[in-house]
Amino acid sequence: MSTYHQNEFLGFGTCAPPNFIPEWLYSYLFFPPVKTSKGHPWMAPYGLRKTEAQLLKEGFNVDTVSPNHLGDLKQTKVLGIHAMDPFGLGPASTTLAAILKNQPYLAKHFQALLRSKPVKKAKQNGLKVIVGGPGAWQFRYREHATKDLGIDCVVEGEAENVIGKLFRRAIEGSELPRHYEVGVDEAPTLEQIPDIVHPTINGLLELGRGCCRGCKFCNVTLRPLRWYPIEKIQRELNVNFSSGRVTGVCLHAEDVMLYGSKNTMPAEEKLVQLHELVMKRGDSISWSHCSIAAVAAGPKLFAKLSEIIRQKQAWWGAEVGIETGSPEVAKKIMPAKAHPFSAEKWHDVVVEGMGLMHDNMMVPACTLIVGLPDEKEDDIIKTMELVDDLKSMRSLIVPLFFVPLGKLKNENWFKDTQLSELHKKLLIQCAEHDFYWVDNLLDWTFTGKWYNRLLKGFYKGFSALAKYKVRQIE
Ligand code: SF4
Repeated sequence: MSTYHQNEFLGFGTCAPPNFIPEWLYSYLFFPPVKTSKGHPWMAPYGLRKTEAQLLKEGFNVDTVSPNHLGDLKQTKVLGIHAMDPFGLGPASTTLAAILKNQPYLAKHFQALLRSKPVKKAKQNGLKVIVGGPGAWQFRYREHATKDLGIDCVVEGEAENVIGKLFRRAIEGSELPRHYEVGVDEAPTLEQIPDIVHPTINGLLELGRGCCRGCKFCNVTLRPLRWYPIEKIQRELNVNFSSGRVTGVCLHAEDVMLYGSKNTMPAEEKLVQLHELVMKRGDSISWSHCSIAAVAAGPKLFAKLSEIIRQKQAWWGAEVGIETGSPEVAKKIMPAKAHPFSAEKWHDVVVEGMGLMHDNMMVPACTLIVGLPDEKEDDIIKTMELVDDLKSMRSLIVPLFFVPLGKLKNENWFKDTQLSELHKKLLIQCAEHDFYWVDNLLDWTFTGKWYNRLLKGFYKGFSALAKYKVRQIE
């Protein structure tokens, strides 16, 4: 539970395993513990806040605490844990774990929490443990771990309509399902999703759920698309700002550019209204994700949003999926990713969209998927050509090993032992692209106060060391 120095991007540092930086320094640089008052975190992950709100609504006595302040748990009947990546099986973690040959920090800390003294002792006295969060799917690949770690129930999916029932059963001592997958028919409607009642990490606010693009490798697409009305977003914004501890906003959706839209064309009025609202109240803004195609489809609107955002800051960031440079692969596994353009034009859409981001001062952290099922040498070459064409565009490009999710969940995992020479060249090409831009980004990120300049020195040192290590591997 960390604010990652108020920078969501730094949170990716948790996906790395312990490495050449001493553990205490690495955790300080990338995930210092969130500040607390009497054990209560000033901010908590958005998903955990939603669960908290739902349980409060149903009349439970809920206490949200930081993992470092569990106390003796004597009064606690059920411990609920929000897990992002409990076994390090997410795409970023598996890639870094394979390269650095160790278990990522995320997994290490999750397991250490369940093996900690207060949890073990409370378990002997009847405590029930329920785990949920974005990483819950990983328990399907680690069934024995549920038992080994003393977990009574794992909840996978949007839990609003089921969490109360499960906590009630746990308190009553009734039998709990080992793994509860929330069905599509159990997904909450907009009216059933409660507002948060306490602040979220870095002011993160959800704009809606689901995605209309239907990429085959993605879990999100299995859920219905729902956008929050602006009034709901405003109410949650008030909760964050009235705490006096949150000053910025991270807008979260699978595609912020499509907020309020029923198709793949951005809804101008709604987007402008949203950004004006946020910028009137907040000091800063970032986006969690956006699609390149929506940016390319609305260049004037994108420039207008950039103008609104840059009234108070020089740039903003978002995570963006490129995934492949091969139109054949794009057509096969993500036919609507380029929509309203055709999948055959994917290369050009990416170059166009990334160019707009560069010109309008948005910095994308882009992902590529390495080792997709049936990937051919020619597909990798096309991806390398695309990365080459993006050289002059301010961005980070991160290649991630294929993880079988969504409609591809029955395919095989991609392992580091399957890395071909071409894959290795692609990995190095991306690392060189990132090294070229990272110093520039650090200069932009850490400005102002003296400790920011100090932190920048550390990150630059880390980047120089990483560069040296990569060159050694090369
Ligand atoms: S665009 Fe992103 S969120 Fe939507 S289906 Fe594709 S990968 Fe998933």
